[in-house]
This record gives sequence, C-alpha cells and structure tokens, in this order.
Amino acid sequence: MNYICTLLNDKDKINLQFSLQKGNDILYRVYSQNQEQGKSIDDRNTVAVNYYDFIIDYLNKDYISLVGQLTGASFSNDPESKEADDIIEADDYAHIEDDKEIETAVLLLKKELENVDYNNLVLFIEKVLIEQNGLSCKQKFLIYDHVYRYKPNYHELCFNATQEVKSEMAVDLKKFLDANKIGNVNDSNDPSEIFNIACENLKSSDKTITYRIGSKLVFNYISELFNYLLYEMINNECIIKKCLNCSTYFIPTRSDAVYCNNISPQNKTKTCVDYMSYKHYLEKTKTDEATRLYKLVYNIKRGKYERSRGKNFKTDLDKFIKEAKKRKEDVKKGIMSIKDYLDWLKEQHTSKHVGKIEFKKEGKNNGIS
Ligand SMILES: [Zn+2]
Repeated sequence: MNYICTLLNDKDKINLQFSLQKGNDILYRVYSQNQEQGKSIDDRNTVAVNYYDFIIDYLNKDYISLVGQLTGASFSNDPESKEADDIIEADDYAHIEDDKEIETAVLLLKKELENVDYNNLVLFIEKVLIEQNGLSCKQKFLIYDHVYRYKPNYHELCFNATQEVKSEMAVDLKKFLDANKIGNVNDSNDPSEIFNIACENLKSSDKTITYRIGSKLVFNYISELFNYLLYEMINNECIIKKCLNCSTYFIPTRSDAVYCNNISPQNKTKTCVDYMSYKHYLEKTKTDEATRLYKLVYNIKRGKYERSRGKNFKTDLDKFIKEAKKRKEDVKKGIMSIKDYLDWLKEQHTSKHVGKIEFKKEGKNNGIS
C-alpha cells in the first residue's frame, strides 16, 4: 500500500491520499478533514489539510475522520475474490459510501495501523510536542532522542520516502496546447518543436495563469507517513495540547488555550471553550453572590451584637463566622457545592426576620454551641 503526501503551496497545507487493500481489490482514498463523510469529492487533488491533522486524529482515535473519503477503486479480475454485492464501481468518483462501507474501510485502516505502537507514539508526543517546560520542540526532541534512544519505548523518527516533483497549472496544460493548435504531444510530432511553440505561446499568453511546482512524497507504510508528519511538526514548533475538559488532543490557536473547540461532553450545543467559560462565569457569579450574602448576614449579626453593647448575640455571631468558614473551606475542597453554601447563607439571612424566635433559640443554646 502507499501513502502519498503532496506539499501544497499554501503554507502548512498538504494533500494526503492513500490506498487500502480489500481482498484483491484496492480502495483509493483522500484524507479530508472537516469534509462530511459520505459526500463525494469533485477533485481529490485539491483537498487540503493541515500537516498535523492526521496525527491529531490518530491521537484522538478518530478513525472515521482518518479513513477519509473514497475517490476510486480498482478491482482484481479474479471473479473468485469478489464479493458480488459489495462492489464499488471503479472510477466512480461520485460514489457515496454507506455506513457499512465506511466501517469496512475503517477496519482495513486499523489493520494498517497495527504497525504503529500507539502508546510509544503518545509517549513521544507528550515528551516532545506537549510538555510545557519552556523549551522548544527541537530542544525537547534532542533530549528525548538522547535519553530514550536505547529504551524499549523509543519511537524512532525514521522514514523512507520516494520524492517526485509535481507540476500544475491553474488551467489544464493539454487544453492550453490544444487551444493553441499545437497538436497532440503523444502523436508523432517532434516533441522539441512542440516544446518550443508551447513556450512561445505561454510567453504571449495571459500572465495571470498560476503555475505550481511541488513535492510529492510516497511512503510504503503508514508509520513512515506518521514519522514524516511528526518530523514536520517538530520542525515547525507545533505545540499540541490535551483539553482540560474532554482530554482530546488539539492544536491551540492561542498559547494560553487549555480547552478545545470540539463539542463538549456536558453540553452538545457548546464547545469545550464555550462550556467552560460559561461554567466559570456561573461559578464566579455564585461566588460573588456568596460573598455578598456573607457580608450581609455578618453585618446584621454584628449590628445586633453591637447594639446590645456586647452583652448578647456574641455566640450567634461567632457560630456564624465559624460555620461559614468551615463551609467555605468545604466548597474549596470540593466536598460541598457552592449552591449548598449559598442555600445555607440564604437560610441565615432569612432567619433574621424571625428575630424573636432566634433570640429564644439563642438563649436556649447559649453556651452549648
Ligand atoms: Zn475539549
């Protein structure tokens, strides 16, 4: 099987295509992050992804995204090998895969992934690309390489690739040649002559035509593709983070980001970032409310005590301060919810309206608490 990574002109963007062996048949696929599964792709060569997307999907074990979209298939001529009702028309680029076919492709991909040790890869990622200790990825890689080199969990950043040069024009070159009536490159015309005429035509043509020349890397194993992508990530100082809410790996857009932009597990209508900022807002509002209520109750009790010229209500005031302090600590420790603390404060507040009863209670409990 092979994995083809084409480096696109857009910074950080690549095009990733691969094939999966299904019995004697081959399924051709393009990795198409963010493209809706089951939708056909008009031109597989134009699908651009970030060079780190594939690694992030693998870390998050998002196989549905990893398996990408079907762009074509070739079938063996051996009728024995075919499963009659499970065949996709060859070159049917518009084919839309159903869930069962996607599931089969995922199983085939998982088989390919068997030669990647997930845990070793995660260790490598956590040492080199995640840990925030003020060092660059390259510095951390240097240390990792030195320390882990002879350990059994050493993830060696090694790959073999075949490089091809790929050139493209914004307009189809063949059409351009045909339109200028240069003739078919494949016919018996002298290629040197066609080349010279084409150069002259291009010179006098529309100068807005864009040309692209780039590298196409071919890997034999998915592990080699991973290593190449990791190497690029280190070179580009690409920082990975693990969301503090949902534990998903992600590439932060801000250096201080701690939550991802995926759907939060707690609320399907919010991302982790939105959900957590909402949660913090609520907590802060509640904390502010608790502080306000505490001061209110304290001032009332203090007022009563002072008005009695220090003769009464001392126990009541002390008891309140002591209990509020304990509850506040419990909230900090996570033993008590801020809501329960608030409810208790509200109870303390409303009890002031029944001053007489409270006074009786005060008298009764005096010295006991
Ligand atoms: Zn998250």
